[in-house]
Amino acid sequence: MSNTRLLIPSRAAQQPDWTRWDDLDRVLGELARRPALVSEETTAALREELAFVARGTAFVIQAGDCAELFSDSGPERIRAKATALHALGDLFESLTKLPVVRIGRFAGQYAKPRSNPWEQLPDGTRVPVYRGDAVNGAEATASARQPDPHRLLRAYELAQRALVELRTAPPASGTVSAVLAPTYISHEALLLEYEHALLRSDARGGRYASSAPFLWIGERTRQPDHAHIDLAATVSNPVGVKVGPDASPADVTALLDRLNPGNQPGRLTLIVRMGAERIGVALPALLAGLGPRAAEAVWMTDPMHGNTRTTAAGQKSRVLTDVLSEVETFFTVMRAHGLHAGGLHLESAPDDVTECVLRTEDLAVDTPLPRYESACDPRLNPAQAAEVVRLAASLAVG
Ligand code: PEP
Ligand code: MN
Repeated sequence: MSNTRLLIPSRAAQQPDWTRWDDLDRVLGELARRPALVSEETTAALREELAFVARGTAFVIQAGDCAELFSDSGPERIRAKATALHALGDLFESLTKLPVVRIGRFAGQYAKPRSNPWEQLPDGTRVPVYRGDAVNGAEATASARQPDPHRLLRAYELAQRALVELRTAPPASGTVSAVLAPTYISHEALLLEYEHALLRSDARGGRYASSAPFLWIGERTRQPDHAHIDLAATVSNPVGVKVGPDASPADVTALLDRLNPGNQPGRLTLIVRMGAERIGVALPALLAGLGPRAAEAVWMTDPMHGNTRTTAAGQKSRVLTDVLSEVETFFTVMRAHGLHAGGLHLESAPDDVTECVLRTEDLAVDTPLPRYESACDPRLNPAQAAEVVRLAASLAVG
């Protein structure tokens, strides 16, 4: 057993089978010596901004790629992604006058949890599934799908370059909180070795995750006694956890206990992704079960991950009307329980992609969607994302 493995203290789901353990150890040693990607101050600043969200005096928009590609992470592309995020933030602010905290799903969103470890190919053979550019290549060949630890170093370097770009050339942003609106970055805290190698000491003798100011734990890795929640519990960053339709009040209570025992506003964000069909029953049941403890977290809606469908041509897609319906139900249920609807979590592209469709009928089209560039889940294009933001804005002030 390598030293690397000893870093991981408890059960860990969704980890790559690196195979090349010596390479992994060398890469992790190198990452541990590299500078923090983000400072403790940035992390603390975001936590304070999220405390405003907890009190209902600000709103979060978190948006960007499902799976970011290394080849789509150069300075120009990061700028395009940040500009698209700020356009959504500006739109919401102009409609509501509520300041928007802007968090990108980019500059590090390189790892994916997967439902199936294998991908079946049309010729009847299978290859290991794509787990994000930080692990393996998207091309469906056995050699591309071999996990390569050197990719972790590339992920770090691209995130570092992206952060330089975001600092030196911030996107023009128009309205209410323009001077207070940096571009925060975020990604799913999935690859435990990577996150552990980038832990750094904070001023209070604790530690923080220096890979991004905001990290979230996915629906598949949020077991309260597993390694991902252990990691989130011991860092001082604001953290998020995805909450699907089968999460029970006991599950979420355990998350509150582990991740926000001091009930600090802004520390924990629950990102609800129940699907348009189920949220109307599942979210009220969850909130009723939590009672007053529900107010111990910021609540955001992710109207993407519970609404994934397949077109007749076999592509993953999402229907805009389902996305809008989940957002509307989220706001209605939150209001009925006396809680703030704190934000939107979207998968969106800066380009006019056609990965999500407008209506359910569009799923029946048996030709491939014309502009489909996502390496994983389907993203909203800017016009579709703006429609979601407009609806959220009308519900926030209505
Ligand atoms: C994601 O955010 O891309 C994702 C996989 O989400 P979830 O964990 O909610 O399924
Ligand atoms: Mn996704």
